[in-house]
Amino acid sequence: MNTSGLAAQPRPAAASGGFDVLVVGAGFAGSVLAERLASQLGLRVLVCDKRPHIGGNAHDRYDDAGLLVHPYGPHIFHTNSAEVFDYLSRFTEWRPYQHRVLASVDGQLLPMPINLDTVNRLYGMNLTAQQMEAFLASMAEKLESVKTSEDMVVSKVGRDLYNKFFRGYTRKQWGLDPSELDASVTARVPTRCNRDDRYFTDTFQAMPRAGYTRMFERMLAHPNIKVMLNTDYREIEHVFPWRHMVYTGPIDAYFDYRHGKLPYRSLRFEHQTLPQEHFQSVGTVNFPNDYAYTRVTEFKHLTGQAHAQTSVVYEFPCDEGDPYYPVPRPQNAELYRLYQAEAEQVPNVSFVGRLATYKYYNMDQVVAQALTTFRKLKAQLGGEAAEPVALAPETLVPAASTAAGRTRREASLPHAPLNGSAAT
Ligand SMILES: Cc1cc2nc3c(=O)[nH]c(=O)nc-3n(C[C@H](O)[C@H](O)[C@H](O)COP(=O)(O)OP(=O)(O)OC[C@H]3O[C@@H](n4cnc5c(N)ncnc54)[C@H](O)[C@@H]3O)c2cc1C
Repeated sequence: MNTSGLAAQPRPAAASGGFDVLVVGAGFAGSVLAERLASQLGLRVLVCDKRPHIGGNAHDRYDDAGLLVHPYGPHIFHTNSAEVFDYLSRFTEWRPYQHRVLASVDGQLLPMPINLDTVNRLYGMNLTAQQMEAFLASMAEKLESVKTSEDMVVSKVGRDLYNKFFRGYTRKQWGLDPSELDASVTARVPTRCNRDDRYFTDTFQAMPRAGYTRMFERMLAHPNIKVMLNTDYREIEHVFPWRHMVYTGPIDAYFDYRHGKLPYRSLRFEHQTLPQEHFQSVGTVNFPNDYAYTRVTEFKHLTGQAHAQTSVVYEFPCDEGDPYYPVPRPQNAELYRLYQAEAEQVPNVSFVGRLATYKYYNMDQVVAQALTTFRKLKAQLGGEAAEPVALAPETLVPAASTAAGRTRREASLPHAPLNGSAAT
């Protein structure tokens, strides 16, 4: 076991029957890199995951009733990056899908993000788009400085909308009041002065037609890739020789928590199969103010599956459980930087993905990060010079901490699940 924090000594790999690369984690980060390294560089890759399945948190499966569900919460694919979309399109066909979300507020189901209809129906008005702009401006509080999430929201939409749509959701989601969270967390409060009720506005919005797991199966189907499930990498890192490791697990676990544990918020999922064809009119209904759960998602909207029954999932935020959402507070970013500095000293391990870089990334951002890491590894493991993936600004993510590269650019995190407005 690598208790020193320094990577195990590389050993002659493929030639001696070992592997060129050990990939820890079969989620997006690990699977994209395994696929690229095997298919483009001809390397022998061993992928291990401690879970009994591939796909990481994006894994989907058929439940007992035969309905396709997402065990780790609803995953909706959206991106502005043609490169990411084109890359994934090699492994799946797509079903066009535009996600819609309603928020249960004051006894009504109102569009989220807040749009013209939300405001008109909530306040019983008949504003035009221009009037809505003026209305929001009149509601907004003028603050000397914007430090917290609460400041951010009230300075954009005022206290009433903050209390009705944001405060309760954020408190449930994080167990913290928005006044205790960074302003950066709600840096973008999406409000629309038109009637567009789509949750996302990205150029590409679609779901893998046969599901995520099928897409991962196709990615990992290369003859140079072997997959070991139910396997923690620490059980095998000294069993099979390898030259380079791609690590997509939690960065603090890799270093045996030597600087302390990085805080995460988790979720408990309650899945239900109901004896009815439909449950709700849109994919997700948010509950900012009532109940312990934050939202309910009906999978058939996402998957397009025709079935006499339907499956839904309720999400209950909690502190204990799988690490899902890095808690966006300055002291946690500071702690992560300690681990990041150590990671940069480990030349034969690339730290990639949301757990290894302690960032809330959407799937497309992780794919982009993995593709960028691949270009760097190509140079490092015997290829041409690395070129970063060209991405739309909102999909730019920090490059992984490899020996070849440091953080390229901080991501804006438009989908950090803070307020029910842009959470995925
Ligand atoms: C509730 C929820 C909803 C989301 N919804 C969306 C959405 O709608 N749209 C979107 O774009 N993104 C969404 N995301 C984000 C999405 O899940 C991530 O971007 C993506 O799954 C990250 O991929 P990854 O490979 O970095 O990490 P993961 O998918 O977490 O994969 C890491 C893998 O590493 C494995 N691992 C960890 N430690 C070890 C070890 N020691 N040994 C072996 N294996 C190990 C884990 O078991 C895991 O399978 C959502 C996230 C959550 C939590």
